[in-house]
Amino acid sequence: MLNFQILHNNGNARVGILQTAHGLINTPSFMPVGTSATVKAVIPEMVREVGAEIILSNTYHLMLRPTAERINALGGLHKFMNWNGPILTDSGGFQIMSLSSLCKIDDKGATFTSHIDGRKYNLTPERSIEIQYLLGSTITMVLDECSALPTTYNNLETAMLRSLSWAERSKKAYVERDNYGLFGIVQGGIDEKLRKISALRLVEINFDGYAIGGLAVGESQREMFDTIDATIQHLPHDRPRYLMGVGKPTDIIGAVKRGIDMFDCVIPTRSGRNGQAFVRGGTLNMRNAKYTDDHLPLDQKCACYTCRNYSRAYLNHVVRMREIIGAILLTIHNLQYYQDLMDALRNAILNNELEHFTQF
Ligand SMILES: [Zn+2]
Repeated sequence: MLNFQILHNNGNARVGILQTAHGLINTPSFMPVGTSATVKAVIPEMVREVGAEIILSNTYHLMLRPTAERINALGGLHKFMNWNGPILTDSGGFQIMSLSSLCKIDDKGATFTSHIDGRKYNLTPERSIEIQYLLGSTITMVLDECSALPTTYNNLETAMLRSLSWAERSKKAYVERDNYGLFGIVQGGIDEKLRKISALRLVEINFDGYAIGGLAVGESQREMFDTIDATIQHLPHDRPRYLMGVGKPTDIIGAVKRGIDMFDCVIPTRSGRNGQAFVRGGTLNMRNAKYTDDHLPLDQKCACYTCRNYSRAYLNHVVRMREIIGAILLTIHNLQYYQDLMDALRNAILNNELEHFTQF
């Protein structure tokens, strides 16, 4: 059971506090992605310093290497990766779709070939829950079947119904602990009727929070927003809502306005490793020669470690030289930008000014 308290509403958006065994999460919240038990290019202290309160890690990657059993024997994922805050683990459903070759899905679960060494694995709803238990995840996600878009109505419906039966089995397999939680995942592509069926059934099963999965897989932003609207109206007000794998700053702003409380996305970290910086009003490509003599920080309104200590000229130099510190400094800054964005969104909600919030 997780305690979720809503402090203030502004339109459909809300500011809340999610209480967990590993600390409080102020919502709307952005979770940096730590796929393989590390937020790439930064140490946990840096993740904490930018204000991140929860991170996401991936069942699929950790079950392959170093394995959930090994992490459990070494004291659990928190100790293993030296992050004592909340950790949400995804269930592996999305990665099975996107990463593994020769994946076979039937009602029992998924059989797939590892993208690393070609070994065969089985992932059932029960096994996914067991893996997340062994890791010690603060928030566990049910195993779902995620359809790549575009696809046919029949494929979407089959995957959604199978995900519902997997959600039921996940709930049965899950071990309840105080201040730990299990989230269901609404599927159904961009079809409003399927989303409604999925949401209503998940609410009957009763989860600590509800995720909207199967988006950010090729649909337009308009379709994504319409799907959120069509889904959220069937979800309970008093539970957190998590939009999986999203997204760009404008996606997040639009989704918060529609009532989403939690986000995760690789964009800030991946962009940082690729020389792209998010700043107020847009992005900067730090490979660009125009920054060679630029003494300004990345973003004059940013107070992160990178902006306090380094010029664009230095960042341009280390990015072009492919020095490791370039990835580190840009990742720190981008994570700070995302946390500042969430902070600004929470303040706008508290001041009843969210409708005027269009960009950051
Ligand atoms: Zn900065």
